[in-house]
Amino acid sequence: MAVIRKSPEELMIMREAGRITALALQAMREAIQPGISTLELDRIAADVLRKHGAKAAFLGYPPGGPHPFPAHITASINEELVHGIPSEDRILKEGDIVSLDFGAVYNGFVGDSAFTAGVGSISPEAQKLLEVTEQALYVGIDKARAGRETADISRAIQKFIEGYGYGIVREYTGHGVGRSMHEEPQVPNWWPSGRQRIRGWRSVVLEPGITFAIEPMVTLKRPETMLLADHWTVVTADGSLCAHFEHTIAITPEGPPLILTAL
Ligand code: MG
Ligand code: MG
Repeated sequence: MAVIRKSPEELMIMREAGRITALALQAMREAIQPGISTLELDRIAADVLRKHGAKAAFLGYPPGGPHPFPAHITASINEELVHGIPSEDRILKEGDIVSLDFGAVYNGFVGDSAFTAGVGSISPEAQKLLEVTEQALYVGIDKARAGRETADISRAIQKFIEGYGYGIVREYTGHGVGRSMHEEPQVPNWWPSGRQRIRGWRSVVLEPGITFAIEPMVTLKRPETMLLADHWTVVTADGSLCAHFEHTIAITPEGPPLILTAL
């Protein structure tokens, strides 16, 4: 599959999709407190979508699959990394960390963004994990410039995270974003060294108009993950805490990229 470059007009629509995504994430962030359920957070995101005439990228995803995702957001608590299903029974409590991932579809284009936040006051080690993972996202964004390659982003994120001794999740990666939520290029948070190759991975030279999500997923201890029996929730295999930060960006002709999912 080829990498799809977007026209200036398409980028304007993607910016709006990204802005709506950011508004929903901000509204949910403000609502995070002990006692709220992840289903209530899902309703907040659905309200923002309705107000802006947008749809949820995750609801019913993947189309035609055996287990379409049943909600607007994914909400993952503590050892849950990604793809947690919102539920009225999942109540946030003091000291938890929660990862919220959300995508809006506006005029046919997708925005994809995520953050992890503490509920009330959290442990210093959890706080540090959140800070480093968010910083890793910006380390990657800073490398996303015309003329560089996706592998430059991957290597920079890897080096930064490994400097703290944390684990980098291998199974999930950043990805191109456009009319569909997952397109080329794939943007892992690490890069094979030496002769090692991963099937399907190639480093892509960045050109203006290429749009993709960068999304480091970082674990406090071991990086291996497991899929729960609900077909969606991904947890760390050793039960350790994990964090996830994501933005969708667009490569510009010169200088840093445009962060499409910023407010
Ligand atoms: Mg993504
Ligand atoms: Mg996402």
